[in-house]
This record gives sequence, C-alpha cells and structure tokens, in this order.
Amino acid sequence: MDKIALVTGASRGIGRATAAELARQGYAVCINYRANREGAEELAAAIRGKGGRAMTACADVAHRETVEVMVRQIENTFGPVSLLVNNAGIAGQSLFQDVTEERWHRFFAVNVDGPYHTIQAVLPAMLHAHAGCIVNLSSIWGLRGASCEVAYAATKAAVIGLSRSLAMELAPSGIRVNCVAPGVIHTEMLDELPAETLPQLAEETPLGRLGTPADIARAVAFLASDQASFITGQVLTVDGGFCV
Ligand code: NDP
Repeated sequence: MDKIALVTGASRGIGRATAAELARQGYAVCINYRANREGAEELAAAIRGKGGRAMTACADVAHRETVEVMVRQIENTFGPVSLLVNNAGIAGQSLFQDVTEERWHRFFAVNVDGPYHTIQAVLPAMLHAHAGCIVNLSSIWGLRGASCEVAYAATKAAVIGLSRSLAMELAPSGIRVNCVAPGVIHTEMLDELPAETLPQLAEETPLGRLGTPADIARAVAFLASDQASFITGQVLTVDGGFCV
C-alpha cells in the first residue's frame, strides 16, 4: 500500500506532532479535527510548504457517518489509508460520584466509539491489500489507576483491550495493531490541571521532565515503520519512567 496516514485529532498536541513526523517520513497525511480548523489548515500548509502531501478533514470521530465520509474523501484524494492513528481523545478529572451520564457517554463516544468507527471505515481497504497498520493512543491511566480519572481510565483501558484482541484477529490478514500509552505530556489537555501540578508531575517522573508531543510522535512512527514489522498487540509506554 502507498504510505497514506489518517491521524485523528491532529489539529494540536500529540496528533499534530504525529502528523508532522509522519509527513517527514514520506506519508501523505490526513489531518482530522473536530473544531480547530485553523490549527489543522496551518499544519497542512506547513507540510505542503516542505514538499509533503497533506489534507484536512473535519469529523467528530464519535459520529460514524462523518467518519465514513472522511475516509471516502481520503481515498478519493490520496488512496486507501495504510496507517490509522487513533489519537483524538478527551479527558477530564472529577470524582466518580460526580460523573454525569452525559459525561460518561461522551468519554466513551470519543475515546472508544471513535476508534471503533475509524477502524471499521479503513479496514475493508486494508483487508483487500492484506496490509496496514493501526496505532491507538491509550494512556498510562489505562494501565494503572488514578483517583478522579475513573471515566477516562476506563476508556483508555478499553482501547488496550480493543487493540490486543484486534491484533490477534487481524494478524493473519497482515495488519498490525498496537497502542502507545503516553505518560504526562505537555499539551492543552493538561490546561485544566492547577498550575502548580505540572512541576510536581515533572518531579515525579524519573527522567525529570514532562513529555513532549514529539516524544509520542516518534513512538507512533516507530510502531508504524517496517522496523516494527514483527510487533503487534503491544502497548508501548512512553512516560519517562513514571510507571516503572
Ligand atoms: P489535546 O487536547 O491537546 O488535543 C486533542 C485533539 O483531539 C485535538 O486535535 C482535538 O480537535 C481532537 N478531538 C477531540 N475530540 C474530538 C472528536 N470528537 N473528534 C475528532 N477530533 C477530536 O490532546 P493531547 O494531544 O494531549 O492527547 C492526544 C491523545 O493522547 C488523546 O487520546 C489522549 O487521551 C492521549 N493522551 C494524552 C496524554 C497527555 O498527557 N497529554 C497522556 C496520555 C494519553 P480540536 O482541536 O478540533 O478540538
């Protein structure tokens, strides 16, 4: 398959860095976003300015129909998706008793239904080609517990379960599925934390700093590459030693 990547939630943060890294590695990239059109267009222009190929696509990954339209647009513009990076995600802290039905279902709709929709949309072409790669963004909170993170952690643990089982199911079809589980990465997702928390989290991290979006982008690019051609069903933790 040609190197064609769909990165969901690529208008900022980890997704943005991942789309930029993949473009550097020769992928034509689709920069998906939900609201931040400006960020997505700016990245696409930067990639094109360096001679790369990029398109943008607005789609809420929680909605199957819009995801299917997006994937058809990519196929018409670049061709079938050979690499899917399920990065779009939402987070937020609250006591479990305070998690409303609406919040609970929205977390699952974006973080779990999102990958369900995108994977089903790209899979027919991957199965046809007997090739393809899927990288799903989980979190260290999907691997271990954290107070006030119950809803988010439940979705990120679900992503790991989905990825491992799908890896088993798709391996005979030549398709690899892996997860990256980031630690604390400095993006807008951390904006809701109190300011004093960030230096504390850096101190708690054995390598002594917060992660950067580029740290995660390189891990995703590795799992997507031929260097990882015998790796499937794995969770690569990229957390500066936070969870050792
Ligand atoms: P940000 O909040 O910085 O960016 C989130 C991105 O997802 C944005 O591009 C946003 O689009 C997009 N997005 C949100 N909801 C939707 C939706 N319904 N449909 C399509 N796109 C959507 O997040 P990060 O970069 O920090 O996180 C990226 C991933 O990494 C997430 O899955 C997160 O759970 C995971 N992660 C992050 C960690 C961290 O410390 N930052 C740690 C562990 C995991 P728009 O700009 O248009 O709103």
